[in-house]
Amino acid sequence: MNNNTNITDFDYFNTLLVHSVGSKVGPIAPSVIPSAAFGYQNAEEAEGIFAAEVNKPLYARVGNPTNAKLEGIVAKMEGAFGAIATSSGMGAISMVCTAFLKTGDEILCIGGFFGGTYSLVNETLARFGVTNTFCTVDDFAHIESTLQKGVKMVIMESVGNPSLTLPDVQRIIDLCNQYETLLMIDNTATPLLLRPLTMGADIVVHSSTKNMSGHSAALGGIAVFRAVKEEGDKLLNAKYADVHKIVKKMGKKAFIPICKKRAMRDFGMTANAFGSFMTMVGLETLSLRVERINKSVETVSFLLDEAFPDGVSVNHPCLSSSPDNARYRSDFAQGCGPLLSIDCGTKERAFKFLNALELVILTANIGDNRTLALHMTSTIYSDFNEDARQFLGVHEGLIRVSIGLEDPKSIVEDFLQAANAL
Ligand SMILES: *Cc1c(COP(=O)(O)O)cnc(C)c1O
Repeated sequence: MNNNTNITDFDYFNTLLVHSVGSKVGPIAPSVIPSAAFGYQNAEEAEGIFAAEVNKPLYARVGNPTNAKLEGIVAKMEGAFGAIATSSGMGAISMVCTAFLKTGDEILCIGGFFGGTYSLVNETLARFGVTNTFCTVDDFAHIESTLQKGVKMVIMESVGNPSLTLPDVQRIIDLCNQYETLLMIDNTATPLLLRPLTMGADIVVHSSTKNMSGHSAALGGIAVFRAVKEEGDKLLNAKYADVHKIVKKMGKKAFIPICKKRAMRDFGMTANAFGSFMTMVGLETLSLRVERINKSVETVSFLLDEAFPDGVSVNHPCLSSSPDNARYRSDFAQGCGPLLSIDCGTKERAFKFLNALELVILTANIGDNRTLALHMTSTIYSDFNEDARQFLGVHEGLIRVSIGLEDPKSIVEDFLQAANAL
């Protein structure tokens, strides 16, 4: 049992989200301010804005008022101090990595990763001399010895995608705090269901393209941060010496200038105003959708588990046959996101199954309002070797499914007719 047994109050978030997105007076929907540049009152104001002493927009690559509105809402939603909206989920993850890491650093990667994060770490960051070590979510011997050694950052996902393994989030957070090591959790699959910053994590990232937006209408990401402590913050550990100057100057908001000055300003992974507007429109209904979809995931899993013919199986931690069932019931009692997986045994059978679907949409997205499906080894993981696929839990007949808002009975019906046609 851990702190996350704080049950999510979906009603609380319904009220919070509609009222923080909408305004009571004047235009109710958020304003879209697409301007790339912003005029300064006078030379003194310009100086103040550049010194981060005057809180006004500088230039859209380092932020704009529409993004700022979104950042404030997501910070509240995550129980965080502040946030930075980015061009995509990968933009958020690469911003955090490039802000904190340099050649010679090592990172610890816990669990199976989304394909883009996996290649960022294994290919791109490795190309720049950042080494990594991977382990499974429950390999605490490896986690602790690696932390002891002094790695710079730990990265994990709240829920394995597509493996659906569930980590002991609180235990990992506590270890990272004990060893003064930054922990970034990708919470894309579980907004509202898991709030890692309230449990002691340092940084949460989301691909807002997914559940937050829900409408497949805006690519976006966001990184969310805790406040830096006045005294004894882990950022003051000697291994973070190259950000000490910013931490000492900026105090509790230091995560924001660290990411803006050391990554966003130079790499430009900034969100655009229209994308942020669309994400906010999606956020108004996030709580309704998360509650509904996570119930449907269970309904669909149970019904398919009963009714699938031999040779086709469904995997989700809500099923008593799942090795993660106990952790699901204790730590993710209201759901662990929109995903489940279906194993057809072979690629040929998986293709036949997918091609027989009538309602479900074939695409690489997740967290959409519609139910989506995709064969794994022929698409996202086609570049991955067998060892990597094994580690990530991706086998030949595996189909990832992301459940949407449709009637769960219609979703089940579609999967069953496809399975019976094999
Ligand atoms: C999609 C996804 C990402 C990347 O997000 P983009 O918005 O596509 O860049 C990162 N992490 C997870 C868990 C995702 O599902």
